[in-house]
Amino acid sequence: MSKQVKYLLEESEMPTAWYNVQADFATPLPPVIHPGTGKPIGPDDMASLFPMDIIMQEAAVGPYAGRFIDIPEEVYDIYRLWRPTPLIRARRLEKALDTPAHIYFKHEGASPVGSHKPNTAVPQAYYNKRAGTKRLATETGAGQWGSSVAFAAGYFGLEAKVYMVNISYQQKPYRRMMMEAYGANIVASPSQDTAAGRRFLAEDPNHTGSLGIAISEAIEDTVTTPHTKYAIGSVFNHVLLHQTIIGEEALRQMEKAGEYPDVVIGCVGGGSNFGGVALPFVRDKLKEGKTTRIIAVEPTAAPSLTKGIYTYDFGDTAQTTPLVKMYTLGSAFIPAPIHAGGLRYHAMAPILCKLYDEGVIEAVAVQQNPVFAAAVQFARTEAIIPAPESAHAIHIAIDEALKAKASGEKKVILFNLSGHGHFDMTGYQMYFAGQLEDYEYPVEEVHKAIAGLPKVMA
Ligand SMILES: *Cc1c(COP(=O)(O)O)cnc(C)c1O
Repeated sequence: MSKQVKYLLEESEMPTAWYNVQADFATPLPPVIHPGTGKPIGPDDMASLFPMDIIMQEAAVGPYAGRFIDIPEEVYDIYRLWRPTPLIRARRLEKALDTPAHIYFKHEGASPVGSHKPNTAVPQAYYNKRAGTKRLATETGAGQWGSSVAFAAGYFGLEAKVYMVNISYQQKPYRRMMMEAYGANIVASPSQDTAAGRRFLAEDPNHTGSLGIAISEAIEDTVTTPHTKYAIGSVFNHVLLHQTIIGEEALRQMEKAGEYPDVVIGCVGGGSNFGGVALPFVRDKLKEGKTTRIIAVEPTAAPSLTKGIYTYDFGDTAQTTPLVKMYTLGSAFIPAPIHAGGLRYHAMAPILCKLYDEGVIEAVAVQQNPVFAAAVQFARTEAIIPAPESAHAIHIAIDEALKAKASGEKKVILFNLSGHGHFDMTGYQMYFAGQLEDYEYPVEEVHKAIAGLPKVMA
């Protein structure tokens, strides 16, 4: 039996708990602030959006204050459809690069919807079902998250309504059909279905939309529709918590392979797949004195960590959410239409922002043409067509492997392949036709956007 098949059959690598990094923080995360009162929000302020288990996981309180949080049996059972995901050594890529580095990747594209996102969609649907929710509202950018919610909601007998960023709705009809196949309702955002959507459409009837606008619509839908709660695919602490299953598995699998990574790499949009693979290694760094380099890779078109400012901002464009301290480009940010749709968010997960601020993790921004070059090199060596988002991580993994070659170091590199790119072939087509533009978000725009935000004295 090949090693990989054996891995798939062995459940011992699949952890039974998520890792709560908040338990290991020396100082707590900055409080989330109510924009009206200027005071920290409490659980009741979130109760219209989320079930209480999710709220407590978000704040890491009550039964969710410990370092390890047991995965509910019903969730574990569904995870087992595709977990543990394979950890693969990219030997053919190593050979093509002629590098002494060992390159490993975690293949989250092996999930039914093709990315890491069901790792959190399933527990979110589960906790909602248990709390009596009948319907979930959510937004989606490239469609990976919408597909995951559609799939998970269906498993627990919940209705799902998905607000899909208009440009992706146009560019990715198959993602839309996939969500419909799983039984969800989809609408292009901005839509006529919410007051926020109608407002943006009045400004521009052909609005391409943004994740921030779609979030505003999904939140409005949630608070105005009975028995409805909101599901979010990234940024939030509870999402990163659920995603830590990636890194917990990777730790066990690397140990089996007899290696420990010198470098851990992931792409970042809102930060969930990167947080998922990285946080267990952050634990080793904080608690065991490991010196692992942990690198977040973002697009130059949406460079929240490398060019953003660490300050309080809204999570959405209509400025309806509480204020959260994040590295942000400003909530009014409308991103350039790059093909890594999942990386076009204006801010970043607060957990990652804190770790970046404290120098525990690093960040780098890359242009989309070299990203697609890396994607193609990976496809031609390792046979998997990566999502354009994931290819950001591949790009830096290749750079690190080439640096190892130049210095003769035997470096061990681990990156997260957050998803496959089967629904992203338009981006590949444009790359092959030489039609992809590189974008660099101007730093002056960030300062302008930040100037308009409310001041928080926390
Ligand atoms: C959504 C998505 C991302 C970006 O979101 P994160 O929360 O930063 O992980 C990256 N890769 C894929 C394949 C995605 O679907």
